[in-house]
Amino acid sequence: MANLLWLQGGACSGNTMSFLNAEEPSACDLVTDFGINVLWHPSLGLELGEGVHKLLRDCVSGEIPLDIFVFEGTVVNAPNGTGNWNRFAGRPMKDWVRELSEAAQFVVAIGDCATWGGIPATAPNPSESSGMQFLKRDRGGALGAGFVSKAGLPAINIPGCPAHPDWVTQILVAVATGRAGDLKLDEFQRPATFFTSFTQTGCTRNMHFAYKVSATEFGQRKGCLFYDLGCRGPMTHSPCNRILWNRQSSKTRAGMPCLGCTEPEFPFFDLMPGTVFKTQTMMGVPKDMPTGVAKTGYIKLTAAAKAAAPAWAEQDIFVV
Ligand code: SF4
Ligand code: SF4
Repeated sequence: MANLLWLQGGACSGNTMSFLNAEEPSACDLVTDFGINVLWHPSLGLELGEGVHKLLRDCVSGEIPLDIFVFEGTVVNAPNGTGNWNRFAGRPMKDWVRELSEAAQFVVAIGDCATWGGIPATAPNPSESSGMQFLKRDRGGALGAGFVSKAGLPAINIPGCPAHPDWVTQILVAVATGRAGDLKLDEFQRPATFFTSFTQTGCTRNMHFAYKVSATEFGQRKGCLFYDLGCRGPMTHSPCNRILWNRQSSKTRAGMPCLGCTEPEFPFFDLMPGTVFKTQTMMGVPKDMPTGVAKTGYIKLTAAAKAAAPAWAEQDIFVV
């Protein structure tokens, strides 16, 4: 049996909504098949008021062993570092986060806000938000760069806006069943099993990417979304085209550009007008290249690809 406590800071509850839609395994499977005991969750917990307060105090003191502490949302520090804009159970949430993280065997940060601050931490960041161990790309965050939980791991970061539900439940199962040692974390503390390949890996538009045939509108059933519509699939680490959403589809399969939501900089360009859903170019060359591709190589390759593009590349051939 593994005790799990889930709290929310500066959050929209999107990751909770995602988690409750998990299928492989489902949220119910965690309880019935994998021995997870949900001590409390903002949408599922039964205790109220003093009941929650006591439960949190007991987790901090060790009276109730806390195996997995899950945090969703940013750690809010405003105003002026006090955290009083986000109070919970009688005190700033940031104080609960620090004490519960120190008491827990494992800490799991879910979604962009908890991992690196996400949209709330975008400049000018009025809520003085940060992630658990990162603020955007910078190490530190609420717990500090050197934090490790009792089991010896840093916060396990599962980013996304929201994170895919099965990324969450599969990592919780690994932790709850004693297989955390199998988790290889990348430089941003993301499980490598999910965040080594790119969104582009498995995208049905890869042939159109290769022949530089562009989609010009959302939902178009042909073309690649990189050249005009700002798709970040070639430089975003996510399995969105390997582990499909709702087991059916993905943004790019449906004709919507990847926004790069699993990367620390998300949202890119600080949401300035004219920068979202539009490929930023300089002299016709994208400012952000596919990972590992040099500009000179890109220019040569795309010129050749365009010249070689077959007629079918302009036809509607998608089945998803
Ligand atoms: S739509 Fe995006 S992910 Fe798919 S091939 Fe084009 S750039 Fe890659
Ligand atoms: S396709 Fe891109 S923006 Fe959409 S969920 Fe996956 S990584 Fe995030």
